[in-house]
Amino acid sequence: MHVGEPSRGAGGSGSAPYAGAVFLLFGLATRQKPLGAGATRTCPRCHNATTWARVREHRQLTLFFVPVARWKRRELEVCGICGTTIAA
Ligand SMILES: [Zn+2]
Repeated sequence: MHVGEPSRGAGGSGSAPYAGAVFLLFGLATRQKPLGAGATRTCPRCHNATTWARVREHRQLTLFFVPVARWKRRELEVCGICGTTIAA
């Protein structure tokens, strides 16, 4: 689980009592959209040769649950056995 830790880095100072409420209005998340089957690869971690899943991922800012900005779009392939991701 190296890629995408969505709940890290929100606040953290401990001195903002309204951080929870603010976080409901302003959301920052990593979205992944499956694109179907990718290449057949031998996984560097679990060493199984399987068809990996292709995923498009982007960072997304939402305001009142409406997406207002997207950036850092990239495509990944994900091992179906252990979940390792690589840039594709
Ligand atoms: Zn694997």
